[in-house]
Amino acid sequence: MSEDRTAAPPAESRPDLRADCSNCFGLCCVALPFAASADFAVGKEAGKPCKNLQADFRCGIHTRLRQEGFQGCTVYDCFGAGQQVSQVTFGGRDWRQAPETSRQMFEVFPVVRQLHELLWYLTEALTLPAARPVHADLRGALDDTERLTRQSADDLAGLDVAAHRGRVNELLLRTSELHRATAGRKAKDHRGADLIGARLRKADLRGANLRGAYLIAADLTGADLRGADLIGADFRDARIGGADLTGSIFLTQAQLNAAKGDAATRLPAALTRPAHWS
Ligand code: SF4
Repeated sequence: MSEDRTAAPPAESRPDLRADCSNCFGLCCVALPFAASADFAVGKEAGKPCKNLQADFRCGIHTRLRQEGFQGCTVYDCFGAGQQVSQVTFGGRDWRQAPETSRQMFEVFPVVRQLHELLWYLTEALTLPAARPVHADLRGALDDTERLTRQSADDLAGLDVAAHRGRVNELLLRTSELHRATAGRKAKDHRGADLIGARLRKADLRGANLRGAYLIAADLTGADLRGADLIGADFRDARIGGADLTGSIFLTQAQLNAAKGDAATRLPAALTRPAHWS
């Protein structure tokens, strides 16, 4: 299966959908809650700054996150929502300078993050030749979603983002069907499947539907995932050494960062090999 695309994938064509921490007020490190766990050495409530967040909104342990027990931070991606909310929605006024804005800023950030994630998938969908029959609809959904990201903070806070997500998801599902059909085989449907710890070494998963599948700690060593739909699949600690992910769709850098690959893992063109892989 080839990885032919009609346009550059989002990583190249949409740098605004990549996190730019230098233009963000550390929103993911303040707005979001996390519980003490294997992913976070300590927990914190939503709206409270992480103890490692510095005055300049940089992370004080950025280069040592995994060693310090904060590997959860290395697998989070805001898809550029942080800089959008900081610089556009709130016009560059941060929550320390203007604490009266903080509650709404932290409320709006997860909403914009969902919209930016949709923009990422829609941009990728528009690069897929097999999805041509739905390109016009995808383009319309992309424009609608862009427009929503430019709304005021009040409008974003009141947005029914779940309903918008549901509408876009229907299009992404259709895109997935069209793309996976190019695998030329009837692949098994693993949508939302519990594959935690599954032994899938060298499995033939070409064109498989793995949307939202739980692949935590699964052994996918040498598996063939070409053309598979991997949207929302949980790859934490999944072993993907030597696996072939070329031509798979809707895989994000954060999912990849959470997995355990190696130099032989073959990646979609838009993604980069995580530095912590062997
Ligand atoms: S450890 Fe660093 S990256 Fe993680 S939440 Fe705290 S400040 Fe942010």
